[in-house]
Order: sequence, then C-alpha cells, then structure tokens
Amino acid sequence: HRPSIAVVGRPNVGKSTLFNRIIGERKAIVEDTPGVTRDRLYGSGEWLNYEFNVIDTGGIEIEDAPFQVQIKMQAEIAILESDVILMICNGREGVTDDDRFVARLLQKSGKPVILVVNKIDNFEMRNDIYDFYELGLGDPYPVSGSHGLGLGDVLDVAIDHV
Ligand code: GDP
Ligand code: MG
Repeated sequence: HRPSIAVVGRPNVGKSTLFNRIIGERKAIVEDTPGVTRDRLYGSGEWLNYEFNVIDTGGIEIEDAPFQVQIKMQAEIAILESDVILMICNGREGVTDDDRFVARLLQKSGKPVILVVNKIDNFEMRNDIYDFYELGLGDPYPVSGSHGLGLGDVLDVAIDHV
C-alpha cells in the first residue's frame, strides 16, 4: 500500500506552504474533494525512491465550527488516514496553547508524529526550536517552508516510519 503522510497544525503555521514543497511539481495531479474544502487537500510526493500521499488537513474545514472542533476533526482525519503525521508549529511564535491542544490529540493516537518547527528561515534562528520539546513529541525539526530548508531531514525520518 502507498503510505500517507498528513500535515497537521493550528492555522497559519505554514502547513500549505510545506505541503506544496513536499509535492513539488506534482501539484498538477492534486485533486480537490468537492464539498469538503476549497483548498487542495491531497497530493503525492517522492523521497529517496519512496512514493507517498500527502494530506493537508488544514484544508479540511467545517463552516462556522469553532477552532477546537475544526482542529480536532483535522487531527482525527490525519490519525485515521495517514501512516505518519507531521505536526507543524511556528518557530517565530513559540509554543502556544493551540499547539499543546493539537499535540495532546496526536499523542493519544499512538501514530508516529514528527514535530516540525517551521519559519526557521536562517541558521541563527535554530535556537528557537528547543522550547518545543515541552510538547512531548520528541525532537523538533527546524524547517523553512518559504526557503525550502530542512525538509530533507523530516522526510528521512518520515520514510523510516512507512
Ligand atoms: P497554514 O494556514 O498552516 O496552511 O499556513 P500557510 O502555508 O498558508 O502559511 C501562512 C503564512 O506563513 C503565509 O503568509 C506564508 O507565506 C507564511 N510562511 C509559511 N512558511 C514560512 C516560512 O518558512 N517562513 C516564513 N517567514 N513564513 C512562512
Ligand atoms: Mg493552509
């Protein structure tokens, strides 16, 4: 079976940016799921000869539902539909209560979770990742979705779990 990697996290941390980076030129074959989302949700990626599906759960929205309901449903879909979950945080904002809420949901699932700290756009910012150990999801991986940095290390770990 073709493994799936889900991208999860509170709004605005860079999930869609990272999703687009992972699927690269394969964007063209991404499908929309009518009635579920306005965003692109599913794509496929490849790393070191492994092919996998990628799900941007942030694109799944229930209109007018409160934030915690949205994020809970997104996390549940990620837990059900994926083999590995990338939990994305924002290294420029540090750990927030919403991050803690998402982390707890994922932790309970027992699925492999890789903690990805996005918006670490340069080397000097790498010290900002250590606070994320408090989420209890293991080592935080620094990446920059906008500059395309650090994703190789994340995908190395991801394919170890598939
Ligand atoms: P999502 O809501 O989690 O899907 O987040 P988006 O991918 O839509 O990104 C939210 C905002 O963060 C946008 O303005 C992006 O341009 C910005 N962003 C995403 N990745 C990075 C990054 O690595 N560095 C910086 N500085 N900004 C980023
Ligand atoms: Mg998004």
